[in-house]
Amino acid sequence: MNRPNIVVLGAGYGGMITTAKLQKMLGSNEANITLVNKHNYHYQTTWLHENAAGTLHHDRTRIKISDVINFNRVNFVQDTVVSLDPSSKKVQLENGELTYDYLVIGLGFEAATFGIEGLKEHAFTINNINSARLIREHIEYNFARYNNEKEERQDLLNIVVGGAGFTGIEFVGEIANKVPELCKEYDIPREKVRIINVEAAPTVLPGFDEELVEYAMNLLEGKGVEFKVGTMIKQVEEHKILVEKDEQQEEIPTNTVVWAAGVRGNSLVEEAGFETNRGRVPVRDDLRPNGHDDVFIVGDCALIMNPENDRPYPPTAQIAIQEAETTARNVKKIVHGEDNLETFKPDLKGTVASLGEGQAIGVVFGDKKLFGWTASVMKKIIDNRYLLKLGGVGLLLKKGKFNIFTK
Ligand code: FAD
Ligand code: NAD
Repeated sequence: MNRPNIVVLGAGYGGMITTAKLQKMLGSNEANITLVNKHNYHYQTTWLHENAAGTLHHDRTRIKISDVINFNRVNFVQDTVVSLDPSSKKVQLENGELTYDYLVIGLGFEAATFGIEGLKEHAFTINNINSARLIREHIEYNFARYNNEKEERQDLLNIVVGGAGFTGIEFVGEIANKVPELCKEYDIPREKVRIINVEAAPTVLPGFDEELVEYAMNLLEGKGVEFKVGTMIKQVEEHKILVEKDEQQEEIPTNTVVWAAGVRGNSLVEEAGFETNRGRVPVRDDLRPNGHDDVFIVGDCALIMNPENDRPYPPTAQIAIQEAETTARNVKKIVHGEDNLETFKPDLKGTVASLGEGQAIGVVFGDKKLFGWTASVMKKIIDNRYLLKLGGVGLLLKKGKFNIFTK
């Protein structure tokens, strides 16, 4: 009997959970499973803002793929996907080519830059371990330069964060905690450093619970974060940024712009010819796009509408994990010759966002609001639960966050 080739692209939340489940659900004589990823590690994207600020080392965030996936059972290919061709069922890699019978795409997100001038060239994004490490090093280098310059260089000490969605807010929370440490290290008065969070909408965390938003703003302002709401980032240059509010423009000198103002699906899916909406592929209830019964799409590359508000579900790790579980079960059904595929039903447990060590806000179990330390403990529970699901107690003990007062 010919064993079908199942190829999983990307070892993020979606790809890792799909592969980990498939290796348990299918016998080695039932299917060949291949996992392709750029690196030999998986990372918890949800901790990258901490790595970018330098409040958590990136080695805490990354997990060796071999610690979770059995390479005797799964063929792991460390390579970069260059293109996909659904019509010939081929995946082009930098160093080779793969053919599949069933494909699972979990290639994640990239920054949506909305054509803003200078953004791609001069702004940083919190996308992966490499980009997070670069931000940490860049900020520290600018602080180190400050006292070596002949002229006053305020641009070295101004950190501008674009977007006050969850990523922007979580990052300013961390960097506000890190700045006093950097000031001490490089002999810089704290009051010289500005952390400016620019948000186009009239409020930070648009659409989130107002009481929690107020709590977050008060706390972050108390740590020295300046908010500019109703303000659009218009242009980025090497040493400054141009923002606009009520048709009034303002230039802010800065060497550090961190763009956290939106994401889209990996552009490879659009380039492959799938129908897309903001780079994400609309999928049916069974997580396959129309016209492609041999392809499943999970995580930030997939778009699913929420029938309750007729808007897409936000791209989150929570949804990526759940989609991956459904996908694994559906792939298993196909391999077993069953055609009654499962319908994906998201089970949204809530949202918790960190505001720096020991502080967070969240809404869980429908309408239960959490503030401060309680929310921060809940965030750790969510993160630890994922580690347990992915790699069992061993992985949890190795990478979990257990200290409820520190990281
Ligand atoms: P990803 O996790 O992005 O993984 C994609 C994988 O594909 C990566 O391993 C990457 O290396 C690999 N890859 C990409 N391109 C290629 C290529 N060409 N070739 C080979 N491999 C490739 N969501 C929550 O639910 N809760 C949170 O608390 C939360 N916090 C967040 C904090 C931050 C700072 C950010 C940026 C996002 C956060 N999110 C959170 C959103 C969440 O991280 C994403 O929705 C989630 O990572 C999507 O999972 P994914 O599997 O689709 O892709
Ligand atoms: P987002 O789209 O949620 O927020 C981007 C923000 O940037 C918006 O508030 C938008 O108004 C603003 N913006 C857009 N263009 C702008 C401009 N030119 N100038 C100024 N502001 C501008 O993006 P995100 O925060 O990166 O989040 C991406 C996804 O990841 C979301 O689904 C989010 O829920 C998820 N996430 C979740 C958590 C968590 O649950 N703790 C943390 C981080 C991210």
